[in-house]
Parts: sequence; structure tokens; C-alpha cells
Amino acid sequence: MFADRAKIIIRSGKGGDGHVSFRRELFVPDGGPDGGDGGRGGDVIFEVDEGLNTLVDFRYKRKFSAKDGEPGGKRRCHGADGADIVLKVPPGTVIKEAESGQVIADMSGDNKRQIILKGGRGGNGNMHYATSTMQAPKYAQPGQEARELEVQLELKVIADVGLVGFPNVGKSTFLARVTNARPKIANYHFTTLSPNLGVVDLDGAGFVIADIPGLIEGASEGVGLGHEFLRHIERTKVMIHIVDASSVEGRDPVDDILKINAELAAYNEELARRPQVIAANKTDAVYTEEGDQDPVQRLKDTFEPQGIRVFPMSAVTGKGVKELLYYVQSMLKELPDEVTVFEQEYDPELHFVNPNLPFTVEKSAEEEHTYIVEGPRIEKMLGYTNLESEKGFRFFQEFLKENGILQQLEDLGIQEGDTVRMYGLSFDYYK
Ligand code: GDP
Ligand code: MG
Repeated sequence: MFADRAKIIIRSGKGGDGHVSFRRELFVPDGGPDGGDGGRGGDVIFEVDEGLNTLVDFRYKRKFSAKDGEPGGKRRCHGADGADIVLKVPPGTVIKEAESGQVIADMSGDNKRQIILKGGRGGNGNMHYATSTMQAPKYAQPGQEARELEVQLELKVIADVGLVGFPNVGKSTFLARVTNARPKIANYHFTTLSPNLGVVDLDGAGFVIADIPGLIEGASEGVGLGHEFLRHIERTKVMIHIVDASSVEGRDPVDDILKINAELAAYNEELARRPQVIAANKTDAVYTEEGDQDPVQRLKDTFEPQGIRVFPMSAVTGKGVKELLYYVQSMLKELPDEVTVFEQEYDPELHFVNPNLPFTVEKSAEEEHTYIVEGPRIEKMLGYTNLESEKGFRFFQEFLKENGILQQLEDLGIQEGDTVRMYGLSFDYYK
């Protein structure tokens, strides 16, 4: 479904380190700590530029880095923040984590600007660490590390129409006949078309059609490329079901439609209600004997009462194809012209706590009904997380789950209302 892509590495800026110093004034022998804070590292930001329509700019340069924050200085001097880096992309660019292919952000619709990697927080200078017992702290907080991520940029093309049907019913033949992709490419925001996408040119107006191979029984259970396939279908507005009306391969066309619809409904109820039309293909090869019911009539009798139109056609001879296309075009005109935006599947924030760092979960020896969770992994996660924000808190909970911390607490016998302590923070435990 995608054309024009580029793989790049992005890196946010490291936070500047906090500074350790002590006030020195004439006649003041032991000045207090006055080490300033480090500046924050720059963010990596993606921004839509309506004037762009390819990702070609990302073909020549591979790595894009924001600037590091400056360290703090003496006399409470705050380090300068590192500059952000702003990467301009064409509208409709999808940013994916390169390894998993999961969507980080979709720069379409209202999403014109998004921070993809946050710069590191600057460290506190030692001026923050003076207490009544420790008046000359020699400690300052280091700045947070830079974050680096390989991302795949893809310019998405959303097909208006998806072709579905069992293998060998004639999907590829139909697509090849109706699409005339090359001369129309300039009108669309892509430079190359994947082989299963094409543009139908109908009296100057056009729509994008996709042959999405791979629908087999069991797709909704993830068999084969099942989910991948169904996800593509979800993004189309109209489906053309192609069936083999001639049954040359021994398939029953009515049965095929029912099976496919059942598969769609099993994956997503809403998909089964998506506008659809049936193309009864291979009519040039239909031979009915005395007493046989015409397969096209049988399809019509079964599906037209449900509002699904049936068009007899031959992808090989071209007979009936125009009628089908005009009907599909009229269906598309009735539908709202909304932009499909892909949902986030990968949150970089969740992935920057090194999963190899240790942590421990223990029952407190001193306090009853209290559990202690600590270790570098926890400390690091808390450093990244703003528990005040809803998103941060959600992340925090997910983190506890993903890292098996909740499970460990349960194994230790934690009860509702018990307390969990993590580095000076306490939480009440509820399921
Ligand atoms: P797909 O697997 O659904 O993409 O099916 P293909 O387009 O590859 O077609 C499978 C076979 O059916 C090929 O041998 C085609 O030539 C044949 N075929 C496709 N459409 C027609 C048609 O309208 N009439 C006839 N007689 N054969 C067709
Ligand atoms: Mg095919």
C-alpha cells in the first residue's frame, strides 16, 4: 500500500549536566552550593510542509540530530537549551519504528507538527541539594541521555477501493485492465506505485484501487498475512468482491461471498457493513446447461435484497467493467471525504528505559502492608515520566505491567490498599 519511503536515524539532544560549585565571596569563607542546572536537549520534531510531495530529501542524509543541552555553570548559571531539529515532511507521511514497522505518528489531517523524540532533561545543579544536614553537596544531577531511534518514513497512499476475493478469481487481471497508473502519477502524492495499487481514470476523475491479495479463510484469526491484509481493507471506503461466476475452479460464488463476509465480520463488525459491490467475473466462461440456474442471477437473488449490487463482467474481455466502475464511482461520491489517520502503535517514550537494567520488588522489612520497588530501571523510568500528566501516569502503569512488576507484587501477596514505595513516592495499590 505504500510508495516512496526512506529510512533514517533520529537523535534527540542530551540534557546538560548539572554543575557542582560553591559560592566564593570576599569575607564569606564557606559559601553555599551555587552550581546551576544543565539545559534541556533539543527535541526531534516532524512538521508538515504542504509544498513537499516526496521523501527524496531523506534519501541522501541518514542521520538527523538535535543539539545537546549545555551544562550548568557556577553562580547558578543555567546551561543553554539545545536547539530542536525540525524535519519537514510532505502531508500524509507516516513515521514508523523501523524494526517493528509499528506506527509512531501519522502526519495527516490535523496533525501538522509532532515531537517524536524528546530531548533529555537537564540535570539539577548542586544548588538544589543543600539540606540542613548536608550543606556542601558535591553532587549534581547528570543530564538525561540522548535518545536515538531508527525510523521508516512512508508516504501513504490510501486506496478508496479494495479488491477482495479468493485466489484466482481474477483480481489481478481486473486491476491490470482498469488501472492506467503511469500517466496519472503526477496527480498523486507518490512517485512509485506498489504493484497492487493503481489509479482508475474515469472521464478525468479518478480513484485509487488496491488489490489486497491474501484473504484466505482464517485471516481474521491471523492466519497467513491475515491481520495485515484486513488492516489494509479497513482503510478503504468501498470493497469490490470479485467472484468467479464460471466456477472454473469449482468454487461456488455465493458461498465465496458468504465466507469472505463472515471473515470480515469476525475481524471487525464494522467492516462487514462497509459498502460493497459484487463483481461476478469470468462471465465469458459461464456455460449453463438445461436446468442450471444462471450463477449471476443466483448472486443477484441472494445479495441484491441486502442492498449489495451484482455486476456481471469479464476482466479478460472487458465486458461489463465500465458499468461496475461507474457504479463504484457513484458510491464514492456519496461517501464523506475524510482523511484516514493511522493510530499510534509505538510510543518511543515507552522504549527508552533499558530493559536490561536491574530492579527489585520486595516486601518492606520495617513497615507492614508496604512494598519497595527500586533499582536503576525504576529510577530511570521515573526520571522520564511526568506522573502529573495523564499520559505519563498511563505510561507508568503500563510500565509496571510490561516489566512484570505488578505480577511480582501479586506473587508477594500484595492486597488492595497496601502501599508501594518507589524512590520517595508512595502509591496505594488497587487492582
Ligand atoms: P487473482 O488470483 O484473483 O489475482 O486472479 P488472476 O487475475 O491472477 O486470475 C486467475 C486466472 O483467471 C488467470 O488465468 C486469468 O487469466 C483468469 N481470468 C481472470 N479473469 C478472467 C475472465 O474474466 N475470464 C476468464 N475466462 N478468465 C479470467
Ligand atoms: Mg492476484
